[in-house]
Amino acid sequence: MFIIDFDNTLFNTTGPNGSRELCLKNLAEIGVNEKVYQESYNIARNTFEGLASYNYERHAEAISQFGFDKEKVLQILNKTAEPEVLQSLLLSGAIDLLENLKKTDQPVVLLSLGDPEYQYLKFRGTGIEKYFDRVFMTNKPKKEIMEEIFSFVSDKKYWFINDRIDETLELKKIYPELKIILKVGPHYPIEDYQATSLPYFKTLTEIKDYILNQ
Ligand SMILES: [Mg+2]
Repeated sequence: MFIIDFDNTLFNTTGPNGSRELCLKNLAEIGVNEKVYQESYNIARNTFEGLASYNYERHAEAISQFGFDKEKVLQILNKTAEPEVLQSLLLSGAIDLLENLKKTDQPVVLLSLGDPEYQYLKFRGTGIEKYFDRVFMTNKPKKEIMEEIFSFVSDKKYWFINDRIDETLELKKIYPELKIILKVGPHYPIEDYQATSLPYFKTLTEIKDYILNQ
């Protein structure tokens, strides 16, 4: 079974020319600067209970607190939710990797952290849903949903592909049987990936080659 993360693993969320940069560029047209964007993002990102809850509606609401028109902001943010835009934000090699994983006849599972509805909107728009046997969108920590995923197949060979180092190491501690592959993402310097002693790759093509050679 392959368990794959979405943001910054398959999808360019916060990398150069990613969806965050695109939103920022579009919002600059009405005068929203990076400081306002980030402060409002921090407000929209979590609920009071600490659940991951980012979506464009919440972000537009938070930006409006800085004196901008909420509907206008929402309209601009939604430009980045158009399928053709979302498809262009898939990371290079994503489709090729997924097609090759599909050919292995092992289940392919998406595990994504965030507001489920918003995550699903992005995911579906990219057109890669057909490659997945199961999709888990959760606003709870990923470890809480792993048991449910493991109950889905009897196969004990679990690949886990993710960009977040801290989250991955925590899961590896709880589930030592996970075969980890780290996708180098924008949140950490390369030295942090090196320090994990786990396989890490900059591109999805390298990840595909690594898996196919196992
Ligand atoms: Mg990620």
